[in-house]
Amino acid sequence: MLNFGPNPKNRLYTNLNSYLEFLSFNLIGQFQKDSKKIDTFEKVLAERFGTEYALCVYQCRLGIYLAVKALIKPGQEVILSPYTIVDVINMVIFAGGRPVFADVDHQTCNISASEVERLITPNTGAVLITHLHGLAAEAHRIKEICDRFSIPMIEDAAQSFGVKEDGKPVGTIGDVGVFSFEMHKNIPTWLGGLIVSDRQDVVDKIRAELKNFSYPPLPGIAQKVKKGLIQDLASLPLIFQLFTYPIIRFSYLHDIEFINSKVRRKPQTSKPGKELPEIYKSQYTSFQARIGLSQLNNVDRDIKTRIEYAHIYHEGLKDIEGLVLPPSRDDGSHTYLWFPMLYAQREDLIKFMIEQGRHVGAGHFTSAADSEQFAEFYRDCPNAKKVEKELIYLPTYPRYSRREVEKNVEIIRKYFLTKVITKQQTSEIAKELVYETSKS
Ligand SMILES: *Cc1c(COP(=O)(O)O)cnc(C)c1O
Repeated sequence: MLNFGPNPKNRLYTNLNSYLEFLSFNLIGQFQKDSKKIDTFEKVLAERFGTEYALCVYQCRLGIYLAVKALIKPGQEVILSPYTIVDVINMVIFAGGRPVFADVDHQTCNISASEVERLITPNTGAVLITHLHGLAAEAHRIKEICDRFSIPMIEDAAQSFGVKEDGKPVGTIGDVGVFSFEMHKNIPTWLGGLIVSDRQDVVDKIRAELKNFSYPPLPGIAQKVKKGLIQDLASLPLIFQLFTYPIIRFSYLHDIEFINSKVRRKPQTSKPGKELPEIYKSQYTSFQARIGLSQLNNVDRDIKTRIEYAHIYHEGLKDIEGLVLPPSRDDGSHTYLWFPMLYAQREDLIKFMIEQGRHVGAGHFTSAADSEQFAEFYRDCPNAKKVEKELIYLPTYPRYSRREVEKNVEIIRKYFLTKVITKQQTSEIAKELVYETSKS
């Protein structure tokens, strides 16, 4: 038996085809600008989402930039979650917006609808909600609030392709929805994003900007392919078990920062500036659209698997005091890109799991509401801060096995059992001490 575990906490949804397409693009494709495949991909996506328009863009964050720019007047406020990638906030600033951080809900990690409502002012230009971890962010409720004030709503659905809220795909509930096809997401085309909307005025403005962007955007994509190859190889089961994991485990348990810092997924950073950097002014390419089209075939099957895994985690962990589990849903409104759970002594639990030979990860975003980079926009967001410190991702990706999920549950239960016993023992020892002291 070679499969003695553990499996990695993360695996990319890339496949051999992702690499072959990149190779053939390098050999011939980059010299011919063929947009037919992109048209097909966009048509299929518009049909899937039931929207008037679907536009592929270079990156999701660029889509956010374009959407904000098309919807607000320069200097207006954009209400958004502080618990997202830093570059999204930069995009809002580049697009002329002033970020206003609305705190998240502790359990869901998503922007709080009541906070959004509280922060609306006459100068609010847009509300940007983020559907984190594959969980719909009360989009209908927030849209209703936005409508009352005639403010447009943008949905960042980078982590939520295929998620539905009350039967409607997220990304199509607000004025503009944006998705990511970056290599860590569930439809990886190395880089890429998607804008969906029914609003012709907005789409016209976006198309006008895209026309001036350059082609092909090779260096950015090549860099991703290189990183992807390393990650894919390192997480192949046998290589992971024999090399990658022992190294990760050893350096984690012995605090070897040189390796730990390489393995840790850092919150993405970017240089603050005034304008959209040139590297983002690139176009989506046909080979990426071809990868995307083939990836679409797996999306719904993968979601089904992840929901099944989440169900096992829920059933196995729901009675443990101190663990905050994500909402349990089977209506498609949570698709569990990971199983995001919260625990106050996160590092202690992760250390225990690694000692027991498991591989799990801590959340990797930080709250932007109190970051130095955005000091000008500081707002007290205690829940986002808590999420930053407490979030743990349990693996749910479809190449992970049910047995591994069960094993994680087992080890987490063991951790809490050990803790409770230790607590009981401590209090018994204390009692005895008191007894002994009172006797003497
Ligand atoms: C990944 C991600 C993005 C950015 O996607 P890119 O395609 O890399 O620009 C934006 N928002 C969230 C929540 C994400 O997870």
